[in-house]
Amino acid sequence: MSQETRPLAPPDIQLTGRFELDDVQVYRHVPFEVPAGVRQIHLDVAYNDRISSDKYLTGGNTLDVGLFDERGSQSGSLGFRGWSGSNKTAITVGETWSTPPYRSEPIGAGTWQVLLGPYKIGPNGLDYSVDIWFDPGIEKPEPNRSPILDLSVATVPPPIEAGWLRGDLHSHSTASDGDSTLLDMLQAARRAGLDFMGSTDHNAAMLPEAPDDPDLPLLIPGIEVTTYKGHWNVWGANRWFDFRLPDGEAVRSEMQIARNAGGFVSANHPKPFGPPWEYGFGLGYQGIEVWNGYWQSLNAISLAAWDAHLAAGQRVVAMAGSDTHFLRGEDQGALRRATIGHPTMWVKPDDPTSATSILDEIRAGRSFISASPTGPQMLIDHTGDRDVSIRTGGAAGLILALISSGTVISATAVDKDRWDQEFRVPASATHVRAQLMDGCGNVEALTNAVWLDG
Ligand SMILES: [Zn+2]
Repeated sequence: MSQETRPLAPPDIQLTGRFELDDVQVYRHVPFEVPAGVRQIHLDVAYNDRISSDKYLTGGNTLDVGLFDERGSQSGSLGFRGWSGSNKTAITVGETWSTPPYRSEPIGAGTWQVLLGPYKIGPNGLDYSVDIWFDPGIEKPEPNRSPILDLSVATVPPPIEAGWLRGDLHSHSTASDGDSTLLDMLQAARRAGLDFMGSTDHNAAMLPEAPDDPDLPLLIPGIEVTTYKGHWNVWGANRWFDFRLPDGEAVRSEMQIARNAGGFVSANHPKPFGPPWEYGFGLGYQGIEVWNGYWQSLNAISLAAWDAHLAAGQRVVAMAGSDTHFLRGEDQGALRRATIGHPTMWVKPDDPTSATSILDEIRAGRSFISASPTGPQMLIDHTGDRDVSIRTGGAAGLILALISSGTVISATAVDKDRWDQEFRVPASATHVRAQLMDGCGNVEALTNAVWLDG
């Protein structure tokens, strides 16, 4: 049975309503009563003028859907059964199986709530209906067996210093709006030559669990908290985070909760069509995603935002992730589709088998970014008072720039495959970072910042 199939019998409950233009991006909680003894609930959501959530499309309606059970909808509640955004209109939840990413647990009697988020409202307004069936007897659908597009195996050069690992921290699976399972994604990451992979599904109710296969890249479990004013990632904290946040202060306190739970927090893709980050800067995130997908996808704007943080003395670290959603199907959208490992984040953890150890290195800023798993490598070391040394590999023909507070303080042509040089940083600079570029200004690799004032 396909996900879009509806049961034949009339629904047990029908919820209807309307969102006007002014209601855009304000969540509504619509209650319904679940009787005792139910083992499966099916919801079918319909509305007029439906368009996809594609950030380049406007003029119609896009409705996000989530579900809370009888335990309630407050922040952190165990009653959060899941959120599927706008890409599913038929949702089954039950004791034994549920439509991903909804949690499979017993169905408790009482007041449940459908969460409706009008992400886009077109000129006609948005009229919705939610049909609900109790125990319709829907069987678990077959997994997607259509072919994966790229099965080639990358040959990656060795790290220029032993112990450095390659990874991609930002990816999606069928647990949100990706088209492939976590196992498919990890296998693709392995073919790309990666040692670790972050899985960060939108508003997941729980963290992903690694498949039992020691040959797969190490899973860095995370969640992308997906709100209407920006997205932020949390890795390493096993709970859900509230995405119904009205303003920057609410985000600040939710990020505090995430950090207190041991999570590492990053503000994602702060650039046009990222979608952008509209909550303001300096809210307690430890990282900022300066490189999301291919470099040419407006990442220069995210990088400038990071430089502004550094210039203001905010020691947030640079993050990178491909944001890959699809391994199958057609290549759609205005920009080139994301590929696992483009870009790649590099770390040298104490324990290469531990996600915590990898996150500790990232938190400390001991990482660098390259365009791909085979891209140029670059290490920066603070060798003396105002001295840094740069080592590169595979960067011949590129230009090395030293940058402080967004200003290039030195530019040097790299003329051989293994290359190193010492630099003295001007007394006025509080910090310095290094960046490799081609002759057109496309960034090929960048380091984190070295702080020179202790
Ligand atoms: Zn995002």
